[in-house]
This record gives sequence, C-alpha cells and structure tokens, in this order.
Amino acid sequence: MLNLLKNNDLCPICELGKLKEQVKDDMVNICGKMIDVNDIRAFICNICNDGFFDDETSKRLDELVILHRNNQ
Ligand SMILES: [Zn+2]
Repeated sequence: MLNLLKNNDLCPICELGKLKEQVKDDMVNICGKMIDVNDIRAFICNICNDGFFDDETSKRLDELVILHRNNQ
C-alpha cells in the first residue's frame, strides 16, 4: 500500500485529508539517536498531519538503522 502513494492521494489514516509530497532535511530517530538526514521525501496529510516516507527514503532510513545497529 505504502509503495503506491502519490501526491493528492487520499490519506489512508483519516480518510479525509490529502497527501502532499514534501522534501526536507530533518532529524530522525535512528536506534534512539537523533540523526540528521537530508532530502527526506514524505507524503504528509494536510488534515491529520500524519505522513509516510516514500520508498527511496524508507530504504535509506532502513540502511541507517542497520548501520547504527552494527556500530553499537
Ligand atoms: Zn490524514
């Protein structure tokens, strides 16, 4: 389901809002540490403000999790 999100899709959480693609730099909690990540693409609902990372960003975050897990 999450792979198929597009701009202006109906929000699957509240089923009222529309998802808007946003690109930003943000701090993400990776294994309990806040890590600066650039170019995060996410679809954010304009009603409930919940959001979903796009596929590529999800993969990048997964890789960061694996990296930090191995460093512990
Ligand atoms: Zn919503």
